[in-house]
Amino acid sequence: MNPTNEFELLGRDRQELTDLAQKVGQPGYRGQQLFEGLYRQRVASPDQISNLPQEFRKTLEEQGFRIGLPRIEKKFISRDSTIRYLIAFADGQSVETVWMPEGDEGERGDGSEAGVQSGWDRATICLSSQVGCAVDCQFCMTALLGVKRNLSAGEMVGQIVAVLNDREVSPPRDRVNLVFMGMGEPFLNYDNFIKAVRLLVEGVGIPESRMTVSTAGIVPRIADFGREPVRPKLAVSLNASNDEIRTRLMPINKKWNLEKLMTAAREFPLRPRERLTFEYVLLDEVNDSQPHAREVVDLLRGIRSKVNLIALNPGPGIDFRTPAEQRVLEFQKVLVGAGIPTFIRRPRGRDIYAACGQLKRTTELVQFSA
Ligand code: SF4
Repeated sequence: MNPTNEFELLGRDRQELTDLAQKVGQPGYRGQQLFEGLYRQRVASPDQISNLPQEFRKTLEEQGFRIGLPRIEKKFISRDSTIRYLIAFADGQSVETVWMPEGDEGERGDGSEAGVQSGWDRATICLSSQVGCAVDCQFCMTALLGVKRNLSAGEMVGQIVAVLNDREVSPPRDRVNLVFMGMGEPFLNYDNFIKAVRLLVEGVGIPESRMTVSTAGIVPRIADFGREPVRPKLAVSLNASNDEIRTRLMPINKKWNLEKLMTAAREFPLRPRERLTFEYVLLDEVNDSQPHAREVVDLLRGIRSKVNLIALNPGPGIDFRTPAEQRVLEFQKVLVGAGIPTFIRRPRGRDIYAACGQLKRTTELVQFSA
């Protein structure tokens, strides 16, 4: 579905770069140097990889190879310092990637806040896995776009490289968390997603323990994901306490209902101290009452889990209301009372349409800097 460009280097792994070096008559270790240049130094052109011989750089250029770094088309800066990037690829398609200094509290309780250093603290980058999304969750603005195409592994890594370069931040020295929670359903673009994870871990230097992927509930892929030797933490976008409401909010529930989803969740092989995260968007008088909270407690029984509550981030074309703070707190109280660590995610960048469920490539904003 995505146009894989045979001349783009970003997205190739160590072996593929070694093969490329050898194909043009260079020793295999030059592939490793290319790998370092692409992912650790994050260069914009092969010419900037100074430890490659001039002759190799020239060959790459003559044969039309390029890094394939996506372009930051626009940058919207929120009052709370969140930045929403509109990032464009070679074919003109674009996605959104969000930089959240200090995170949004979604990482609380999962161990990733351990070891925070003073000074520059931590940031979370939310990246996209598809252009648009086919899953059609009724509270999400991305759904209004439909799905245009999958992103390649290089395009997913490219979002991170572009944002890190813009912010002048370098993992692992600087503490960066990644969440695959932007546009798209990562488990419907599974192979590219997994390849991107490996490149981000081995190349860019972001540990898998600081990454989380969220799925709307693509059940067969949850089992596959549990078998991956290198994998982020898993978050399930739950959003309802029974099938009737979930099918209304997330049509995918017709294919994989709560029983199938919760069975997959229960069977998911958690690592020591790891918790399965459940994301729950609260919609006023739809899924946010105390009886709903008690149903959630029943669903999660026996799963080492934590819950992130998100009061709906409103937007044009979305027919639900944001619940009052009191309702959110009461919902949280029921879960906490049942022993489930439950956090309220701070809305980040709502004023620039950067918050959860708001990513729709909105460009008509007053406050932005290009
Ligand atoms: S919430 Fe996620 S899975 Fe659902 S439509 Fe939006 S982007 Fe797709």
